[in-house]
Amino acid sequence: MIIDAHCDVLFQLWKNPNLQFKNSPELRVTYDSWKDSIAKVQCFAIFVPEDVPESMQFETALKMVDIFYEKIIKPFPNIRVVTNSEDILHLKENELGAMLTLEGCHPIGSDITKLKTLLRLGVRAVGLTWNNANAVCDGVGESRGAGLSTFGKQVVETLNEYEILTDVSHISYKGFWDVMELAKYPIASHSNTFKLCNHPRNLDDKQLKALIARKAFIGVTYVPEFLTNEKSASIKNVFEHIEKIYKMGGENSVGLGSDFDGTDGFVEGIEDYSKYNAFYYELKNRFSKEFVQKITSENFLHNLPN
Ligand SMILES: [Zn+2]
Repeated sequence: MIIDAHCDVLFQLWKNPNLQFKNSPELRVTYDSWKDSIAKVQCFAIFVPEDVPESMQFETALKMVDIFYEKIIKPFPNIRVVTNSEDILHLKENELGAMLTLEGCHPIGSDITKLKTLLRLGVRAVGLTWNNANAVCDGVGESRGAGLSTFGKQVVETLNEYEILTDVSHISYKGFWDVMELAKYPIASHSNTFKLCNHPRNLDDKQLKALIARKAFIGVTYVPEFLTNEKSASIKNVFEHIEKIYKMGGENSVGLGSDFDGTDGFVEGIEDYSKYNAFYYELKNRFSKEFVQKITSENFLHNLPN
């Protein structure tokens, strides 16, 4: 089983309504490639691009929720919505699990009711920011670098109350530490290690240690510029980031968060869903059976409330 903590296929389906989740070749996550793969559970992020006018952002998030149910769940009877670890563990042999997540709180503005609405519609992990600033916190791309606002603290407290994962991927450095202090269920859905690739989207050793100390999930992501400072990236780089987290004591934290359909670059050997079986084989060649199980599913599962 593989659980993949992040993809942006909802965004692609929203951007281009002609695309078909079943098998459009433009998509890296499709039903046809998923059903033939070892991957069992996929998290589907609602990501509203920042060029959508503020007044339309929440509506756009709702549109993506609708796309999730209409284009991913409804046409494929063996895809089940999963909202907790029990749901995932109870998936039958031929069933696939789909979990709804949010990437960036800008669509809720400063309205906690909008957040609660998304949670009631099935969102189970919430990334507080994308790269920019919003009413909750600053993202890594905002030079001010502010942490959680008063409203942001209210957001994290609401996520705690509803037992929802608080996702630190994309958040500012200060915001990261504010979240670690306040969040009951912190994860990093798609971030790599800064030591191996000094991109601002990656986590430095201090941040990794803080997540590791709480056995919080860290999803290594297949984005070339987050994997290496070289021109091209391959699965070798993905394994190096996994190993680095492992060596820091992160055996019970490290996992996978592809970012398929959220990035233009390709990582050789894990370009799309059709490569997951070969990728899994390579993982098993490289790491112990027990550790592969932790990377591919257990570390996500033990973070997810029941
Ligand atoms: Zn992202």
